[in-house]
Amino acid sequence: MKLLENKVALITGGSRGIGATMVQLFAEQGAHVAFTYRSSAEQAEAIALEAAKSGVTVKAYASDASSFDQTQEVVQQVLKDFKTIDILVNNAGITRDNLLMRMTESNWDDVMNNNLKSIFNFTKAMMRPMLKARKGSIINISSIVGLKGNAGQANYAASKSGMIGFTKSIAQEVGSRNIRCNAIAPGFIATEMTDDLDEKLKDLMVQSTALKRLGSPEEIANVAIFLASDLSSYITGETLNTSGGM
Ligand code: NAP
Repeated sequence: MKLLENKVALITGGSRGIGATMVQLFAEQGAHVAFTYRSSAEQAEAIALEAAKSGVTVKAYASDASSFDQTQEVVQQVLKDFKTIDILVNNAGITRDNLLMRMTESNWDDVMNNNLKSIFNFTKAMMRPMLKARKGSIINISSIVGLKGNAGQANYAASKSGMIGFTKSIAQEVGSRNIRCNAIAPGFIATEMTDDLDEKLKDLMVQSTALKRLGSPEEIANVAIFLASDLSSYITGETLNTSGGM
């Protein structure tokens, strides 16, 4: 028996990195998957085709998670196409790193809108259908930086800490309706987001993990599968630190 057999998952930001790996591994666990992307259309279509080889329905949707209106529209479209949504993974996110002295207002606003407003947009759009279905699992991809802070990432850290407060609050609001809401706090994961970082900084981050290595997108996707599945049916409002012991 696959862990997500016949469940429908909606994953934001599935065209690259951790999101793309989640699309693939959720499909391998039997989930039908709808996922969004902002601009990587070709990549998104290729990922949808590959994941559908597991014998499930996989569909990509262009939609900007920071837009309230686009999110309302895409959730309605996914519900039309898939009939239901059992799992929401708020994964889309960006960085605009700079020391606060050099951080611009748009660096701040971009990160808040893409990382934090986006989870408000999607979770709000999913409230009615999940309350009606009296079930659901919402998973927010936060960050170790939201727990520890990081110089040069005040905007990102604030957005990722905000996701944790949001997660705990939603868990309390909708727990009685059998809807769970949890966060994952990944450490340093090898994706395009971390590719550009200075080699010295990367080395420092690796040395600060107990496991002395970067994490892989698969290692985050596996935690998301656990939280999406019935194996975690008594876990809500939690943040699973997945940082290799950072
Ligand atoms: P990534 O490789 O840069 O991929 C980001 C994905 O999000 C892409 O598919 C991108 O779509 C999508 N996206 C970004 N903004 C969007 C928007 N407004 N609307 C729709 N889609 C949007 O990032 P990643 O490393 O996989 O990170 C995924 C999540 O994990 C993020 O929330 C990140 O903060 C978190 N995280 C990552 C790490 C790490 O070390 N990598 C650590 C902790 C937490 P396009 O391709 O169309 O641009």
